[in-house]
Amino acid sequence: MNRRQKKMLARILISAALLAALSFAPVSGWPRLACYMVPYLLIGYDILIKAGRGILNRQVTDENFLMAVATVGAIALALCEGSGDYTEAIAVMLFYQIGEWFQSYAVGRSRRSISQLMDIRPDYANLEVDGKLERTDPDDVEVGSVIVVRPGEKVPIDGVVAEGESSLDTAALTGESLPREVRAGDEIISGCINMTGVLRIRTTREFGESTVSKILDLVENASSRKSRSEAFISRFARVYTPAVCLAALALAVVPPLVRILGLGLSGGWETWIYRALTFLVASCPCALVISIPLSFFAGIGGASRAGVLVKGSNYLEALSRTRTVVFDKTGTLTKGVFEVNGIHHSPYSDEQLVEFAALAESASSHPISLSLRRAYGREIDGGRVSDIREISGEGVTAVVDGRSVAAGNGKLMDSLGVNYIECHGVGTVIHMAVDGEYAGHILISDVVKPHSAQAIAELRSAGVRRTVMLTGDSRRVGEGVAAALGIDQAYCELLPGDKVSKVEELLESNSPKAKLAFVGDGINDAPVLSRADIGIAMGAMGSDAAIEAADVVLMDDDPLKIPLAIRISRKCLCIVYENIVFAIGVKLACLALVALGLANMWLAIFADVGVMILAVLNAVRALFVKNL
Ligand code: ADP
Ligand code: MG
Repeated sequence: MNRRQKKMLARILISAALLAALSFAPVSGWPRLACYMVPYLLIGYDILIKAGRGILNRQVTDENFLMAVATVGAIALALCEGSGDYTEAIAVMLFYQIGEWFQSYAVGRSRRSISQLMDIRPDYANLEVDGKLERTDPDDVEVGSVIVVRPGEKVPIDGVVAEGESSLDTAALTGESLPREVRAGDEIISGCINMTGVLRIRTTREFGESTVSKILDLVENASSRKSRSEAFISRFARVYTPAVCLAALALAVVPPLVRILGLGLSGGWETWIYRALTFLVASCPCALVISIPLSFFAGIGGASRAGVLVKGSNYLEALSRTRTVVFDKTGTLTKGVFEVNGIHHSPYSDEQLVEFAALAESASSHPISLSLRRAYGREIDGGRVSDIREISGEGVTAVVDGRSVAAGNGKLMDSLGVNYIECHGVGTVIHMAVDGEYAGHILISDVVKPHSAQAIAELRSAGVRRTVMLTGDSRRVGEGVAAALGIDQAYCELLPGDKVSKVEELLESNSPKAKLAFVGDGINDAPVLSRADIGIAMGAMGSDAAIEAADVVLMDDDPLKIPLAIRISRKCLCIVYENIVFAIGVKLACLALVALGLANMWLAIFADVGVMILAVLNAVRALFVKNL
């Protein structure tokens, strides 16, 4: 509890005690009013002030105004009638404040627990200066510095392990409890917790550019993007408050008028004014206004615990309506780790050809390039390579040891005017050309991720109607993978630009309510990520372009996170709708009872606070996504 909440609680308790005590006090007339004004003002002064300010600013559409008019009206009524029954007005204010208090407490609690779960912000870095360690603000560490992370500490900045071996706990980032082993030479991302060994890390980014800062930014800004459901609530509120005010006025004025005209309606004017005031109390839309944003906030928080970062409630809402999922193949459905299976038709020795390939590929971050460099296995001497050009979806050309080398698919060979020999093996074929002459091909193959097939099946049971795979790879490979995984359609031999137009075609054939998600690894598919209704970047912890372009970022590259993300969004949206229906339903029922004279102010406020508490508790449920 913070100080404001404590103060509020004290006000609630004291005024409740005063109210109880006053019910035994034998005072009447004006002194009685004065006595009752003490607890009333104590509990309600802030509401009255806010309502007063609202009236001055001609903004009389909030609940402060409703509460002020209703309670002041009730006191005035008691005064006119001479009944001296002020308890009701005070109790209404009291209940309203209890509701407010509970709400701020619950919201505060769930916000805190979300940020605790996202507790990945490092407080310091141990910077190595002249062989000594200095505890520094991570913000002040320059790129290329050496930092030391001891067991139990958070990795503050992205970098490469220079020395040491350890296992890392990445649970806060990926939701995955399996530890990850790292050793010298491995890349390491900030936000993990070092568990076993001391690590010396050479930083490769500034703190502000590091993974941990990116993620925190993302989560903190997520709630500012409003979803349609939230926009609905604010539009609703704008119409609702004036409408109930008019209805209350009508309730106060029309029936007594009708009576004067001689038509039989029971009750004097004071009955109808009382009903109108009760109507105002009953109309407070707090439950709705509070619980919807809270549900989204909890849903986004819960998702981030599971390693699914959603950039805004609008995307969470879109995700819940996903009907088509389009996948990139390499690195998304397959591991993107290619093994060399054969080298054919080459005038060079196998080692020589792989060396050419690895050197030419030295600057690319494509999975194929990484795999060729791994197959080469030795340190790459950057001095031997120049004029590197990467042609997206085709391959690379470069000058290696003074000779022009090209490595890529048939399209690349065609554009260079090199005749190539088709390969009959199964796998991805990297054709090579050296000095404009065909130099044979390297056959590499990739394996599908162990969870890909299960992910496709789970997507189907989560309501996805169509799955599509897009790939730049050959028809043979592409269709083989699609068939093995149970994907509905595969489009092959596409350039990155073709992937965008394919997605546009698919978008057009969808109805506007059915959303299309594209899942990619963020390497050369950023344009498609931003074109789809929902761009999902996977295992993109390192790739800035992907984090930037995507709407949803999966922290690791497990395809099962895709159906999980959809299930999380569906649960959250289900809670949102439950709350909308429940709150509006109870509200309308209450208003009807009040108008018919079947409910008094007590019941009205009780129903309102009750609905709000239930709606908030329901909203908090969105935080729990573990067993979805
Ligand atoms: P995917 O759709 O499977 O992710 P890409 O669009 O990234 O595939 O690449 C399509 C094809 O282009 C690859 O199968 C490969 O033949 C060729 N290619 C792309 N980048 C490279 C590269 N760096 N080196 C060699 N070939 C490449
Ligand atoms: Mg790709």
